[in-house]
Amino acid sequence: MTKLSKIAAERGIKYFLISFTDLFGVQRSKLVPAEAIDGMMKNGAGFAGFATWLDMTPADPDMFALPDPDSLIQLPWKPEVGWLAADPIMNGKPVPHGPRNVLKAQIAAAAAMGYQMKAGVECEYFLLSPDGEAISDSADKQAKPCYDQQALMRRYDVITEICDAMIVLGWNPYQNDHEDANGQFEMNWDYADALITADRHAFFKFMAKSIAEKHGLRVTFMPKPFSNLTGNGCHTHVSMWRGDTNLFADDKDELGLSELGYQFIAGLLHNGEALTAITNPTVNSYKRINAPRTTSGATWAPNTLTFTGNNRTHMIRIPDDGRFEFRLADGAANPYLLQAGVLAAGLDGIRESRDPGKRLDINMYEEGHKVRNAKRLPLNLLDALRAFEKSTILRQAFGHEFMTAYGKLKLADWNEYCRHLSTWERDHTLDC
Ligand SMILES: [Mg+2]
Repeated sequence: MTKLSKIAAERGIKYFLISFTDLFGVQRSKLVPAEAIDGMMKNGAGFAGFATWLDMTPADPDMFALPDPDSLIQLPWKPEVGWLAADPIMNGKPVPHGPRNVLKAQIAAAAAMGYQMKAGVECEYFLLSPDGEAISDSADKQAKPCYDQQALMRRYDVITEICDAMIVLGWNPYQNDHEDANGQFEMNWDYADALITADRHAFFKFMAKSIAEKHGLRVTFMPKPFSNLTGNGCHTHVSMWRGDTNLFADDKDELGLSELGYQFIAGLLHNGEALTAITNPTVNSYKRINAPRTTSGATWAPNTLTFTGNNRTHMIRIPDDGRFEFRLADGAANPYLLQAGVLAAGLDGIRESRDPGKRLDINMYEEGHKVRNAKRLPLNLLDALRAFEKSTILRQAFGHEFMTAYGKLKLADWNEYCRHLSTWERDHTLDC
């Protein structure tokens, strides 16, 4: 392996960001001069774990973030800095609830069964004014703003700077558009191995925010920043591979999906309520799913645990041969836990040869109330966390330490929200 100090000298990298993602999806870094990087590759960069969203105490020893040299990305907007995804370790062992460690464990579990998951993510986001109060473009007012050419081109400079960066990084971006909410955009790049996609997903969020800030704008991936507008989804496209063979492809199936693909889907349906605690991890997430119709005419977010063919009103859509789209996750989903959660649920479906039942081809937004036996998604974070706590399948997959750490920190998050007194409560209760 070429030493990173040598790579730094060749590419003009002066500093490295040694970056790990905590349980709440926040990226934490040390900025390390190139002169010190080889030592950091041996021992990692030191952090006080309790100071981040990890389940640790102030009395715990140093936590080290050990960089993965394969993840190196030279910042396209500041090439003298190299970003490295890192894995948290303590007392010489991987921290079991470190999100990137959690994903690597699921990838190893899949590999032991002879599978490799590939995934692509669609990271919807809003471009806001710097204070975060409103969308940045006051002229962006169409009732149906999706694919609005004029509004897209008013943001040409920032969108193309991000897209150019992805071209340089070799991610093969192929389209950018204005999405269904005023001020909302999406950029698509090629799918890849789950760990690569998770690293790119994390980096994309950092990059989109950083480049937007350069342009005097602000990016948010918040699931529902405006109650009347479509929220930020993070639709995830999934396939399972062995070598060069896509094990989800099957010409004989009407939708081109193999039995293994249907079993994977059945795993997501079976574990969906518990999984929602991971894929929709914030109080705000539940204002995107189960939401009333937006001003554009649809939320584009699911309400039930159902699957279908090429129809965007269900949690899972099979749009094309050999893959499916999981439409539940939102912009707050931790890039690593999202992939780990999808994979764990899918592997359960495969192990248990689960059957997803018959697909539903109806418009769930119009006719959902007629469907019997369709499981509803949790209505709030607490319901999701209760399902998560109870899930023996997720506990088996992720281990006790992750389940406890995540459940504990997220429940504290919920409790803090409950202590918050809102204007709505005063308006509805003051005169009781
Ligand atoms: Mg979209």
